[in-house]
Amino acid sequence: ALRAAYTENLPKLTDFHTRLGADERLYAKYKAIQASAGADLPAPRRKALANAVRDFVLSGAELSGPAKARFAAIQARAADLEQLYSEHVLDATDGFSHYASLTELDGVPADVLQATREAAQAEGLEGHKLTLHYPVYGPVMQYARSRAVRQTLYTAYVTRASELGPIDRDNGPLMDELLALRQEAATLLGHANYAELSLVPKMARSAAEVQGFLRDLAKRARPHAEQDLAELRRFAATELGLHDLASWDLGYASEKLKEARFAFSDQEVKRYFTEPRVLAGLFEIVQTVFEVTITADAAPVWHDSVRFFRVERAGRLLAQFYLDPYARAGKRPGAWMDDVRLRWVRPDGSTQTPVASLTCNFAAPVGTEPALLTHDDVITLFHEFGHGLHLMLTRIDDIGVSGLSGVEWDAVELPSQFMENFCWEADVLQRLTAHVDTGLPLPQALVDKMVAAKNFQSGLGTLRQIEMGLFDLRIHAEIDASQRVQQVLDEVRTEISVLRSPDFNRFQHSFSHIFAGGYSAGYYSYKWAEVLSADAWSAFEEAGALSVATGRRFREEILEAGGSRSALENFTAFRGREPRIDALLRHQGMA
Ligand code: ZN
Repeated sequence: ALRAAYTENLPKLTDFHTRLGADERLYAKYKAIQASAGADLPAPRRKALANAVRDFVLSGAELSGPAKARFAAIQARAADLEQLYSEHVLDATDGFSHYASLTELDGVPADVLQATREAAQAEGLEGHKLTLHYPVYGPVMQYARSRAVRQTLYTAYVTRASELGPIDRDNGPLMDELLALRQEAATLLGHANYAELSLVPKMARSAAEVQGFLRDLAKRARPHAEQDLAELRRFAATELGLHDLASWDLGYASEKLKEARFAFSDQEVKRYFTEPRVLAGLFEIVQTVFEVTITADAAPVWHDSVRFFRVERAGRLLAQFYLDPYARAGKRPGAWMDDVRLRWVRPDGSTQTPVASLTCNFAAPVGTEPALLTHDDVITLFHEFGHGLHLMLTRIDDIGVSGLSGVEWDAVELPSQFMENFCWEADVLQRLTAHVDTGLPLPQALVDKMVAAKNFQSGLGTLRQIEMGLFDLRIHAEIDASQRVQQVLDEVRTEISVLRSPDFNRFQHSFSHIFAGGYSAGYYSYKWAEVLSADAWSAFEEAGALSVATGRRFREEILEAGGSRSALENFTAFRGREPRIDALLRHQGMA
């Protein structure tokens, strides 16, 4: 019932926000305030006003007559095309199945075998039903010994929604039209190209700066990627009998190489990360580094397993948060931080303290044992808590720029990725672990293996991300790119990748991030924010992971300042200089 009500009302909300974003009367009010009182207002309020006026302009509020009508028509058509693009990807993913025998699936984990067998049985068929959905596709590509099965699945996966499949779900014409529309919208708003428009509210200053960043990173990662590939080829040839490593062998050969080099069991590691110990350890770290206390608090909750906490400094309430840790039926998968309310000073002078909601999907406790977390789960918890701290520790009184509000898209992952670093520190891991049977902390030998495995094939992984980021940026920065999407991708691959994808690879036809997901001319943000978080962490490496002085500076200049200044100003105030790429390279074993 809740879902039906939500779906029914969603168009009303979308329409409301579209009209609000380009409302001429409201825009005129904002501009009037800016003109009359602008210079006398405190800096955070000036920033909030400037952001609001900028967003009106980007929503077409400055346009009039036919240009305004055309801009609105482009927005509506682009939204339809994006929706259609993702439907094609979904239909193409759902539209493929391959029934394999048990012998063909030699090597695949038992839980996947069982699920695929049940899927075939449900249709009254023999064998195992393989699909392109990740819980099946991923493990088959990683573990199936049969090269033929891997090749079949790979080929279907990388040609989804392309001209090599059913014509009625080919995304090719949609991409061409979308790129042309985005270019036209950029021109209407007075920008040279769509990338330039997309970067206006972001931290990166120009498309040239982003391309320079990606190409510089590619140059540094390349020798490591070449080493990764040479090592993989050698291993595949001598240990697996694969002498001509193909794209559909990569996942399989990599998994086998990883097992051979860093054998340790996730199940074994999990016995050390009991949820109460991890949570207590996380709170200790936050309390020490950011000078707060976290205690249990009471509030109505939506499920028995949800907990509520308060964050104080010197007895004064700063913020509160919910923690909804476990997976359960009907709960959306994944992990995220959401705001329940933001900090601001109300017109009557009273302060609204912020409230965050942290959602994870850990396995719930079984029997009398506490919940056990994988190391990935622990990293996820720290990540989301980083977003939570950004929201909760802000000292800004203006709701438009308090916490994460108004923070540039390509910088918003700084506090979250920053927090992940604690999960790789040997002495921090000691605090976070107590074996469920013996109570002992994680042994150093296991820590060493985990740290060594962390950077496995980081060169290849980095180049892959750069290939996607550079492709995204180029097709949105070159005004005739809608006529030659494949050609741009081919050029980027020639420039960046060390292992050429097969000619039939149509990755761009299912690149939903940029054609249907809001990442257009913004895919580089993943790497960009990693530079910031790694460089911020390097300040703690210099001073000690639990350094109170460094923690105070990070808190004051970044977490407390929120969106009241640009991300670059915040970072520079914390680090004493602009961000540098060195720390990221060093952390990923590429220095
Ligand atoms: Zn995040």
